[in-house]
Amino acid sequence: MNKIKVSELFYSVQGEGRYMGVPSIFLRTFGCNFKCAGFGMPRGELSNEAEDLGEVAHFYNNYKELPLVSTGCDSYASWHPSFKHLSPLYDLDTLANDIVDLLPHKTWKEEHLVITGGEPLLGWQQAYPNLLEHSKMKGLKEITFETNGTQPLDSNFKKYLSNWEMNPPDREITFSVSAKLPCSGETWDDAIKPEVVCEYEQYGTAYLKFVISTEEDMVDAQCAIAVYRAAGFKGHVYLMAVGGVENVYLMNNKNVALLAMKHGLRYSDRLQVPLFKNEWGT
Ligand code: SF4
Repeated sequence: MNKIKVSELFYSVQGEGRYMGVPSIFLRTFGCNFKCAGFGMPRGELSNEAEDLGEVAHFYNNYKELPLVSTGCDSYASWHPSFKHLSPLYDLDTLANDIVDLLPHKTWKEEHLVITGGEPLLGWQQAYPNLLEHSKMKGLKEITFETNGTQPLDSNFKKYLSNWEMNPPDREITFSVSAKLPCSGETWDDAIKPEVVCEYEQYGTAYLKFVISTEEDMVDAQCAIAVYRAAGFKGHVYLMAVGGVENVYLMNNKNVALLAMKHGLRYSDRLQVPLFKNEWGT
């Protein structure tokens, strides 16, 4: 496959996880296997915000016009079918050129590439070897896939990454796995896939990042950590606060940092919220 449906392509500061603060190109692919309508809602209730906006999606012509939501998935337009028209199908030459055009020096220096979504490890995996080997990508050293951790790697992508082990390029790949707990509105069985995440560890660095707000969520996170560890997962674990908009983020961030300290886990901020209000394109 030599095409990728792209929701957003922008240059910003990575706000979350291992590369927090690193200047980064964000490639947001279209499509997700989840909806995560439970975020920011009382437990057991689902947000209608994405669905309501989907009803009027035809009024919006680009991402900059889209409203932010305070409940549910904060990147709803990257998977909701009604917003498909905002996500062009890029051929890889155009995509690689547009990526490099966003770099401040028009060539890779310290910048990191984040392939996010939606869920970036759906079918677009087939295009990543050609994208990453494109001549414009020479000099790129660090790549992160921001995934929900449910999608196994496809055989061609595994073959490509295995070659890295035999002929190590000057590159590092990271899987930032935001596995979804019940507070997301997704079911445990659909969301917690330890065997999938353990396989990511064979091809790069993987870490878990649980989005939580309450003590009840913390209990779920601990159960999930136990399940991943029992399956052999060795990576770090981060906690990150629910809150795609500032008022929700500010209600939760300190409490989640304290929970991370109490349980000896890492805390991830979401710097794009205080810095840029989590606007589209940030
Ligand atoms: S997995 Fe991520 S992109 Fe997909 S619906 Fe959930 S929060 Fe949104």
